[in-house]
Amino acid sequence: MNASETGKQPYIGRFAPSPTGPLHLGSLYTALASFLDARHHHGQWRLRIDDLDRFRILPEASDQILFILDKLGLYWDGPVYYQSQHIADYDAAIDRLYQNGMLYPCSCSRKKLAQSGSVYPGFCRKNTHTSQQPYALRIKTDAQPIHFIDRLQGKIQQCLPQTTGDFIVKRKDNIIAYQLAVVIDEQQQHITQVVRGLDLLDSTTRQLYIQQQLDLAQPEYMHIPLIVDSHGIKLSKQTQAEAVSAHNPGQTLWHLLQKLNQHPPSELKHASAQDVLDWAIPHWQVDKLKKIRAISNQID
Ligand code: GLU
Repeated sequence: MNASETGKQPYIGRFAPSPTGPLHLGSLYTALASFLDARHHHGQWRLRIDDLDRFRILPEASDQILFILDKLGLYWDGPVYYQSQHIADYDAAIDRLYQNGMLYPCSCSRKKLAQSGSVYPGFCRKNTHTSQQPYALRIKTDAQPIHFIDRLQGKIQQCLPQTTGDFIVKRKDNIIAYQLAVVIDEQQQHITQVVRGLDLLDSTTRQLYIQQQLDLAQPEYMHIPLIVDSHGIKLSKQTQAEAVSAHNPGQTLWHLLQKLNQHPPSELKHASAQDVLDWAIPHWQVDKLKKIRAISNQID
C-alpha cells in the first residue's frame, strides 16, 4: 500500500546522478541514503538522469548506472526520467520568468566574470534585449533572505545578492542550468524529499528562489555528509574515484551502511544485497548523520 492509499501525504524521494562516468562510491552513498529514507517512510523512490550537459555526459554511463542500481537491489519506482526529454518544460519555465521581467541576457566574457569574483555584480542587469553575441540568461535576485530547515543541517539562511548575485538559468551554450532544471524536475516528478550531498547545500537557496518565482511547491531537503579520500577531497569523477563494481553487492551495501553510521550487524557482512536492505530499511536512522561533514572512504 502506498502513502496516498493510506490517506497520508505522499513521501517521494529521488536520486539524480549525472551520467558523466560510471557510478562511484560517493554517488552510491547518496543513492543508498535517499533510497533508505524513502523506503523507511513507505514512500516512493524515483530515478532521474541529469543528462543535460551534452559536453560532459558519456552515452554509455546512464545504462551503467541503471545496471549497478539494479544489481544492488536499489529498485526505483516508475519510469526513469531523463532530463534531456524535458527541454520543452524548462523552456516554458524560462518563458514565464522572462515574461515576468525576472530574466535578462548577459554576454559577459569568462575573463570579466573571473575578475569580478564569485558574486555577479550585475554588469548586464540593465540589458533589455538580446544581442548578436552568444548570451546567458540570468535571473534577478533580491535582498529578501531565503531560509529553510534542512533535516540534518538545521536552519539555513542566505541572501542571494551576497552569496551569488543574479545567477544563470540558461547558459551561453544554450544548455539549461542545473539550478533551473532541478526545480522543474522536482515538480514534474512530485518529489517531496530531496536527499543529496552536502556539496549542494549552498545551491538550495537558489532553487527555493526559482520555486518561489514560479509558485511551485517546496520539497523538504536533507544534505548528507560527503565521502572524502585520504586528502579530504570529495570522491568524484574529477578525482578519478573508482567505479562501483557489481561483484559482492551485499558487501558494498554493508560498507556503505557503516559509512552512513547505521552500524549494520557483522553477520550481514556476507549476506545478499536484499538481506542487507531488508535489515537497513526498518533500521534507518538519519539522526546518526548529524554534525558530521565528511566521511573517509577507507574500508574499515
Ligand atoms: N546530478 C547532480 C550530481 O550528480 C545531483 C543533483 C541533485 O541531487 O540535485 O551531483
